[in-house]
Amino acid sequence: MSLALVHSRARAGVAAPPVRVEVHLSGGLPATHIVGLPEAAVRESRDRVRAAILCAQFEFPARRITVNLAPADLPKDGGRFDLPIALGILAASGQIDRDALADCEFLGELGLTGELRAIDGVLPAALAAARAGRRLVVPTGSGAEAALARDVQAQTARTLLEVCAALNGTKVLPEACAPPPQAITIPDMADVRGQAHARRALEVAAAGNHHLLLVGTPGCGKTLLASRLPGLLPPASEEEALETAAIASVSGRGLDPARWRQRPYRAPHHTASAVALVGGGADPRPGEISLAHNGVLFLDELPEWDRRALEVLREPLESGTVTVSRAARSAEFPARFQLVAAMNPCPCGWAGDPGGRCRCNPEQVRRYRAKISGPLLDRIDLHVDVPRLPPQELRPDAPNGEDSARIRARVERARVMQLQRAGKANAQLGQAETMRDCRLGERDQALLERAIERLQLSARSMHRILRVARTIADLDGATNIASAHLTEALGYRRLDRGPSQRAA
Ligand SMILES: [Zn+2]
Repeated sequence: MSLALVHSRARAGVAAPPVRVEVHLSGGLPATHIVGLPEAAVRESRDRVRAAILCAQFEFPARRITVNLAPADLPKDGGRFDLPIALGILAASGQIDRDALADCEFLGELGLTGELRAIDGVLPAALAAARAGRRLVVPTGSGAEAALARDVQAQTARTLLEVCAALNGTKVLPEACAPPPQAITIPDMADVRGQAHARRALEVAAAGNHHLLLVGTPGCGKTLLASRLPGLLPPASEEEALETAAIASVSGRGLDPARWRQRPYRAPHHTASAVALVGGGADPRPGEISLAHNGVLFLDELPEWDRRALEVLREPLESGTVTVSRAARSAEFPARFQLVAAMNPCPCGWAGDPGGRCRCNPEQVRRYRAKISGPLLDRIDLHVDVPRLPPQELRPDAPNGEDSARIRARVERARVMQLQRAGKANAQLGQAETMRDCRLGERDQALLERAIERLQLSARSMHRILRVARTIADLDGATNIASAHLTEALGYRRLDRGPSQRAA
């Protein structure tokens, strides 16, 4: 029989659906056809496979070769199918043991001399192979990534010849192994002097997973503060870390297997395109918001961003996922990030500064703030002023701030309360859960209603205030939300009082 079947996997979003590579040899003029919606890269694979087979001293069958990648409706790209196609041709022509292919999956791009090259999207494929109960063979360069999937049995090979020797039982391929985790250095809060109000807001944001907007003059320390948030968050669980690593794996920007447990911190520049921010492309890839999944996304100079790019953020801010579609292809990527945005108070940056340097008129300030739409602002729980530090707090002998480890201990205690109560962080509470878990006393309810009236808040903002108040109570170790908690939460809605809210 001149038919062979090899198991492999495609890359579709962060999933790795199975692909059957079927190879059939028949009489007729020697020719190789690849069917099953292959794109340009797969057609090129025909030439690489032929060269690699010849270079490895095998015989390239002088027959009609049909390669079918099934299912046909699945998009397939990249060189990842080179190795399974080559093995299928060799098995169909009886040059390697056909039965040895049965319980194994193969991925890898071939060079013309038969060496195997690393591919992207290996981690999702390894997780899926482990679930399917099959072994996985990948290029040596992809081994560390494959080994992150805990239950996978993955082996690595440098060349096509090594894989063939293993299938014929004359060689044992080395097991893939993960590199030792690298020591992680996250910037510490001890380096932040003064800024008691902003420090407190950062702690509240960390404790309840709330989005945060920092407003302050240039150089007041907004970036410094934002970069310290990952160090205040509870460590990522293995499941969270794997989700984030899988996104990096399919992003085309590479995954660092030594640092995969670290929560991501992404800080794209405001000139980044909407596609770079939310994902896209002919072959949909995740954007910055997905690379920040389970971590922090820092958007500096918020009013300078392309407004269309910011508007696209609204959906993921609510749902934690983003759907990227282009032509016939679409992909859904996780995007549950914690947003830290920063902006100047006015176009020149100095509004409110005691030095009186601001030269902007009220209309300029209004237009500047209106660049951020009300609905986006609505979705940011905490708005915080970051004033310029007085010179005495910048002296070298000024005392350091409290360090991140102590703050994180309080954050983790508050998080435990949230997980016990609702199974999730406060920021993720739905509307019904908010009404259930964030009840106020009668007087506080009246206080909240007056504030809503005065600030003209939406129902969405009201729920956000309640969730922030719940987080502040959790940091306090309190079962019920007290007046002080609610008052502090209301204090974080600063921009609702600005003109931008009504302008949008
Ligand atoms: Zn100004």
